[in-house]
Amino acid sequence: MMIDTHAHIDMDSYDEDREETIQRARDNGVKYMVNIGCDIESSQRSVELTEHYDFIYATAGVHPHDTKNIHGDTYDHLRILLDHPKVIALGEIGLDYFKNYSPQDVQRKHFRKQIELAKELDKPIIIHSRDAKQDMMSILSDYYDDPNGKAGIFHCFSDDQELADAALAMGFYISFAGTVTFKNADNLRQIAKTIPADRLFAETDCPFMAPVPNRGKRNEPAFVNHTAAKLAEVRGLKIEDVERTMELNFHDLFGIGESATPGTVSYQIRNSLYLNLTQRCTANCVFCTRLTKPIVQGYNLALDREPTAQEVWDSIDDVKRYDEIVFCGYGEPTLRLDVIKEVAQKIKDAGGRVRLNTNGHGNVINKRNILPELKGLVDEISISLNADNSEAYDEVAQPLPSFRGMIYDEIKTFIAESKKYIPAVQATIVTHQEDVDEAKCEDIVKKEFGVNYRPRRYNITG
Ligand code: SF4
Ligand SMILES: [Zn+2]
Ligand SMILES: [Zn+2]
Repeated sequence: MMIDTHAHIDMDSYDEDREETIQRARDNGVKYMVNIGCDIESSQRSVELTEHYDFIYATAGVHPHDTKNIHGDTYDHLRILLDHPKVIALGEIGLDYFKNYSPQDVQRKHFRKQIELAKELDKPIIIHSRDAKQDMMSILSDYYDDPNGKAGIFHCFSDDQELADAALAMGFYISFAGTVTFKNADNLRQIAKTIPADRLFAETDCPFMAPVPNRGKRNEPAFVNHTAAKLAEVRGLKIEDVERTMELNFHDLFGIGESATPGTVSYQIRNSLYLNLTQRCTANCVFCTRLTKPIVQGYNLALDREPTAQEVWDSIDDVKRYDEIVFCGYGEPTLRLDVIKEVAQKIKDAGGRVRLNTNGHGNVINKRNILPELKGLVDEISISLNADNSEAYDEVAQPLPSFRGMIYDEIKTFIAESKKYIPAVQATIVTHQEDVDEAKCEDIVKKEFGVNYRPRRYNITG
């Protein structure tokens, strides 16, 4: 089930076949679609669409192109429209210095005024931004500063990494349109890879910018699947993974649809099945949200109690369906070593492949070298090194007080020991952390241990 977060189905390009187009969207699995207002008239038409179709929602706002036409009672009209229960955001608003259909100072003035209205009404905004990066960042930063906020959506994102990072830091979601499927859009695909799963959307912006393989044709909401498929591909995921997270994001931002239910014991990402044994951990990494927002790729890993080995095993439908079964490292699995051993044995007996994701504290936690016990049970182990020295590790990983100063060396020993008992070993770091020298980490992993090195951005592929 897909969501088209940005459509203009009210435009006259659909006058001949609007109903059929909407039906095709439904037939192709579009679960919700947001029709976007660009001025008072199109906002009004968007609202009317929502009254005919349950699954359509609307926004109201004045596009930067149209700010020159704003007059005396425009804002009064906007307020009335925004009061409608199916108008879920204010927009699209912003700056367009590419076309410059309205003078730039007029665009800036009404961008600010509309942001202020959105703030007053507590609505997210839909942003249109083209060739206006500096002014965009400077205006938004006067109003938004919470990276966990629900500021709104940057629609049809087509700018650079700096603007994407700034938008995320101000609590925006990033939505990609058909442009991300275009042949020459490698830069954009690079950026799409870096957007956290819980901040990502897809859209059509129809009738414009149809994605490949329909490029050049009139676009329509049913085509949003092509954009989602491309996003999944560049992120190394299946389209189902992207659909699930976007549905959850839609719920988080607008309160529409369903939230993820807690208590997930096993969950699929790509062709891997992950097992969630615990939310406890002997670290408290600065980037970890397992206690505040325990959502990974659209699954809610909050547990009101830890599952037994039998419950974990029962949650696996068929080990052979998956490339691997992974004891997940969101919460430290070696705190439940007995469960790992019991379930891993069953997986191996049934012909499956086992990976363990761990913070490498297992020997200290269990007060013995646990690696010989994992021999033959674990095919691959992935250990978070996360820093190039002990002080930096303690800063980033915030281990238990009794672990500080000593745990980093223990992790290194754990990596070295792993090589003796486990066929595939990799060490990981989370990138973009202050205090962490990524090049040095890579050197340690490759030269000192000769194991695989994997830098990852947090919450990108789970
Ligand atoms: S080791 Fe993993 S689960 Fe533990 S705090 Fe760090 S990121 Fe979170
Ligand atoms: Zn736009
Ligand atoms: Zn638009």
